[in-house]
Amino acid sequence: MGSPTEAVAHDEALERDRAADDGAKLLSMLAGRRCPSCQAATLVRDRYRGNPAVCCPACEVPQAQLW
Ligand SMILES: [Zn+2]
Repeated sequence: MGSPTEAVAHDEALERDRAADDGAKLLSMLAGRRCPSCQAATLVRDRYRGNPAVCCPACEVPQAQLW
């Protein structure tokens, strides 16, 4: 029998995993799209401040990043 505290911790871990999956999917979706900021290049998978991100190689604006 888990205590209520353990149950909450378990749910939070699940939420975190789901968020990471959604984030990875979002980055995959955005990669290859035209940059909405400068329209001059397509977004590429990259890292921004050490986090997985999708950045524009032309204007270097990160369009999405995972924390
Ligand atoms: Zn751009």
